Amino acid sequence: TDPAVIRNFCIIAHIDHGKSTLADRMLQRTGIVSERQMRAQYLDRLDIERERGITIKSQAVRMPWTVDGRAYALNMIDTPGHVDFSYEVSRSLAACEGALLLVDSSQGIEAQTLANLYMAMENDLAIIPVLNKIDLPAAQPERCADELAGLLGIDPSECLLTSAKTGEGVEELLDRIVAEVPAPAGDPNAPARAMIFDSVYDTYRGVVTYVRVVDGKLEPRRDIEMMSTKARHELQEIGVISPEPTPSQGLGVGEVGYLITGVKDVRASRVGDTVTRADAPAEEEVAGYEDPQPMVFSGIYPIDGADFPDLREALDKLRLNDAAITYEPETSVALGFGFRCGFLGLLHLEITKERLDREFGLSIIATAPSVVYEVRREDGEIVSVTNPSEFPDGKIAEIREPVVAATVLTPSDYVGAVMELCQSRRGRMNGMDYLSPERVEMRYTLPLAEIVFDFFDHLKSRTRGYASLDYHESGDQAADLVKVDILLNGDQIDAFSAIVHKDAAYAYGVRMCKRLKELIPRQQFEIPVQAAIGSRVIARQTIKALRKDMLAKCYGGDITRKRKLLEKQKEGKKRMKAIGSVEVPQEAFVAALTSD
Ligand code: GDP
Ligand code: MG
Repeated sequence: TDPAVIRNFCIIAHIDHGKSTLADRMLQRTGIVSERQMRAQYLDRLDIERERGITIKSQAVRMPWTVDGRAYALNMIDTPGHVDFSYEVSRSLAACEGALLLVDSSQGIEAQTLANLYMAMENDLAIIPVLNKIDLPAAQPERCADELAGLLGIDPSECLLTSAKTGEGVEELLDRIVAEVPAPAGDPNAPARAMIFDSVYDTYRGVVTYVRVVDGKLEPRRDIEMMSTKARHELQEIGVISPEPTPSQGLGVGEVGYLITGVKDVRASRVGDTVTRADAPAEEEVAGYEDPQPMVFSGIYPIDGADFPDLREALDKLRLNDAAITYEPETSVALGFGFRCGFLGLLHLEITKERLDREFGLSIIATAPSVVYEVRREDGEIVSVTNPSEFPDGKIAEIREPVVAATVLTPSDYVGAVMELCQSRRGRMNGMDYLSPERVEMRYTLPLAEIVFDFFDHLKSRTRGYASLDYHESGDQAADLVKVDILLNGDQIDAFSAIVHKDAAYAYGVRMCKRLKELIPRQQFEIPVQAAIGSRVIARQTIKALRKDMLAKCYGGDITRKRKLLEKQKEGKKRMKAIGSVEVPQEAFVAALTSD
């Protein structure tokens, strides 16, 4: 295809603003999906994605569109919407020349949209502002148009009004893509270079890799090379998705499509990497490749210890299509055998837990999420801590924690509430801008650990659901952190250790002691539950001993009742965990970790 008739674009939108629905309408209008084949959210293939209404994996689809008798090829590249996947978003944007800025006209622009818009502007993409859902009675297209106009430095009339529901404005949108998105530029005679912007595991085909060709041409049945690893593979198939995969004789400058090499693990075909021809390799990668870095760690344990091998197998399978997840075996006195898993962020963790449950039928328990701390001991050794129970002993010189640059967009009525929340989470304000008299953008530096713990829920409840949040990693800072241990009868319960700010240590200790006191059944003797920093106890609760007359019930009586009782106890024993001399049913720990 002649690059002059190619248009590569993506859609930047907040969740629920109508990206998938708009994509459906475009598929229909361009005729590649017929009325009969149409199903809602055609491109969202993962079930879980469909149910949650979010897009985890991006896709690329090619649509024909004719303007003034000239046939164009429009490549729509879907971007993941959530902050956890910001590197993937950046790669999708880098594969495009234009972006639709899609805003629900009954809601206005949100923080995530703003963050992605800034990224698109940095990449010099042509931006087409689209106000969606104009069919809704609550739509306020004029107000939104003013907001976008201020943001983009354009006239409000340049905003296109659409309803992805009725299809209004969709043809005009397709025309504007052709008119306003630049055609791709690249050198057809240079060595082939294509950037990977997504890679998905398919049970039948192995890894399917989505690429955007920058220079030269990639052809089937030749060897290709992954530039970051120098790994070589035969290119078994290459083609475009329209709307199903269609093999072709190759992809040239500016084209977007998929390729298959038969590899089975997405790690062999990484987002951000450059594909070149093995016999005539390019000199330089398209852009510096970045390894995905896990930001949030959690211990994942099967509730039934017998499921441990199944859990391992499930994680092995998940890894095939999730290059960002990491895991290694760990053991906990309280929870048994499990894995310490690393995730890009909280949503990534939630999705993984849900997939383990849904796709693999596993009941699991996850310990409180933790970020990665750099602990420098007084002897100079630096330890990277992803599991609080592995916090080094001895004198500590400094602890560093990761911080994020956060953007909160809120109606101006809630500015005070947001400030209060951010301050209580150790935030530092970096600036504040009014997008309009009613909407404010607030910028903060916040410890990632503070965001990981229910920050978003608090933000939502303090702003009646109106504020939105976006953040990206922004280095680290020294902080006054301590490790709080929870002790049962003097012995540490490993899964409950936490690294918290000095000022929050007491509250954490009290909360956990109370919770465990309520959940751990009484025993023959009195058991102290304590929270401690090192050897200093900061909170204490006591589980009282069983009364004598209750114990008496267990003795005497007829023999069958006794036997039954013994059998019951044996069954129970399997799930008992010993913390020092105290036996605790595992359910108590599970409940303590899940209740909030
Ligand atoms: P996404 O999260 O951005 O992909 O949003 P979806 O396409 O899943 O849309 C979210 C919800 O808004 C769905 O219930 C859609 O049916 C609805 N929706 C999308 N576009 C429109 C529109 O133009 N008008 C109305 N009334 N509803 C819409
Ligand atoms: Mg969607």
